[in-house]
Amino acid sequence: MSDEIKTPGAEQDDSRNFIHAFIEEDLAEGGQFAGMTVHTRFPPEPNGYLHIGHCKALTIDFGTAEKYHGLCNLRMDDTNPSKEDTEYVDAIKEDIHWLGFDWGDRFFYASDYFEKMYQCAVELIKKGLAYVCELTPEQMREMRGDLTHPAVSPFRDRSAEENLALFERMRTGEFADGQMTLRAKIDLASGNFNLRDPVLYRINHAAHHRTGTAWCIYPMYDFAHPIEDALEQITHSLCTLEFEAHRPLYNWVVEHCTLPAHPRQIEFARLGINYTVMSKRKLRSLVEEGRVSGWDDPRMPTLCGLRRRGYTPRSIRNFCERIGVSKADSTVDFGFLEHCLREDLNENARRVMAVLRPVKLTVTNYPEGKTEQFQVENNPVRPESGTHPVTFSGHVYVEADDFLETPVPKYKRLYPGNEVRLKGAYLVTCTGCKKDADGRVTEILCTYDPDSRGGDPADGRKVKGATIHWVDQNTAVDAEVRLYDNLFADPDPDGPEKNFLDYLNPASLEVLRGCKLEADLAQARAPESYQFMRLGYFCPDSRDSAPGQLVFNRSVSLKDSFKK
Ligand code: ATP
Ligand code: MG
Repeated sequence: MSDEIKTPGAEQDDSRNFIHAFIEEDLAEGGQFAGMTVHTRFPPEPNGYLHIGHCKALTIDFGTAEKYHGLCNLRMDDTNPSKEDTEYVDAIKEDIHWLGFDWGDRFFYASDYFEKMYQCAVELIKKGLAYVCELTPEQMREMRGDLTHPAVSPFRDRSAEENLALFERMRTGEFADGQMTLRAKIDLASGNFNLRDPVLYRINHAAHHRTGTAWCIYPMYDFAHPIEDALEQITHSLCTLEFEAHRPLYNWVVEHCTLPAHPRQIEFARLGINYTVMSKRKLRSLVEEGRVSGWDDPRMPTLCGLRRRGYTPRSIRNFCERIGVSKADSTVDFGFLEHCLREDLNENARRVMAVLRPVKLTVTNYPEGKTEQFQVENNPVRPESGTHPVTFSGHVYVEADDFLETPVPKYKRLYPGNEVRLKGAYLVTCTGCKKDADGRVTEILCTYDPDSRGGDPADGRKVKGATIHWVDQNTAVDAEVRLYDNLFADPDPDGPEKNFLDYLNPASLEVLRGCKLEADLAQARAPESYQFMRLGYFCPDSRDSAPGQLVFNRSVSLKDSFKK
């Protein structure tokens, strides 16, 4: 991660998207893909759940195809046998659909191409462009040379026949893991170390989630990926910056193997976000070590975690579009992701009242046994969304911190003698409170102005007190509410010389029980989001919430720390 924190404010001007500029060049007359359909792919490795970084990549892959009326394949890049699982395959599909992208019938597995990859390797051997090398990984490292010394392999000059025979025997399982590799014969002296006779195949006697034990040799990513792309006739293979130095090898593979297409690789910067980690391996270790409740823990930067937290597909797509596409790695402020969610929910979430730390408030001059209904607006940003009824009985809950027996300067809420507005109901004046033996406030006492129905005084007097949210005691429903903070206390937990596990934020989850919600929320279900007035945006937890046992997550607070 770089030190610079990017604060995207201005929307990315599409003319600045260098990927689109390249593609337009390629499509134009005389270009590499003139007159062809743009074809991209999103190639996740099914060894974990998708995170927000993947969203950037898939927004670019699917979004680019959409922009040029092209196609985008979803391909499981499952060439690595040990860590992959069908659980992840299903989750990846679900997450991409949830974001609103679709691959139609273009769903593929890289492992379906194993035989073709093998044939490509055989072709290279026959052309004298690949050889079986018996250096161990350690020896290979020792003999890779440096900028002034070329790499060395004593096995480079084997005949094609000998190489073919050995490669065949590698396939049939005669050799142990690590005993031999197949290497491309390119340039042991190249200034680009990726071209110093890179390994194409390694021996790994491990079962694969789809091909079982059919293979004990597996292709390396740099060899497999260009073949996968070319077989699917991808035109533009969009990937992250760390593959830039591998591009000459990508091109070498497609040039020297007989393949139906020559895709163009274009690299863009990875997305980093502060206060979190983004590598699947690290996210998996958080899950496996029980530091979070699962891949979908609402504090995780995974798509399923963000969804459970209350993020909407629109907010995430907006975020990905607005951070833009650049060639320079940078870290985006987590506050900007929150900003994008807040923007969406401000437009679309219904306003309701909920009291998270309740204390009783009694209106002493309100007729005992009387109840009334008030209409409260659903969303002031969208007046057409109407109102919904809330009941009032003179016995309500308010937030404990909306009362101070002895006010501090500038405090405008409830304290003896002060008049405040109960949102949508009446003006009330605090007259005092009741306390228990320990001095804790158990009940706030008020009188109301019967001529202020709806919240405004009949005599037009100016009310300086605050407007306070409340919930009627007779009809309130109970809920558990989970408040979240950053998973990590350090902005760059993954920084140099740091062990990210040392920087977990011990206060990242606060659970409140006995919260009081207005009756309307009794049937609330995910993924419906609400604004709890004055408190933030909340949604029912998709795993744990049920009618009668409500559990809400705070998706994001109301306060926007993001500065444009
Ligand atoms: P991780 O390190 O999290 O495992 P990865 O690159 O190994 O990431 P893949 O499943 O191989 O994960 O990634 C699928 C695609 O998503 C690749 O094209 C990869 O470049 C892209 N991608 C992964 N992480 C990011 C990120 N942080 N920002 C942008 N693109 C990403
Ligand atoms: Mg990976």
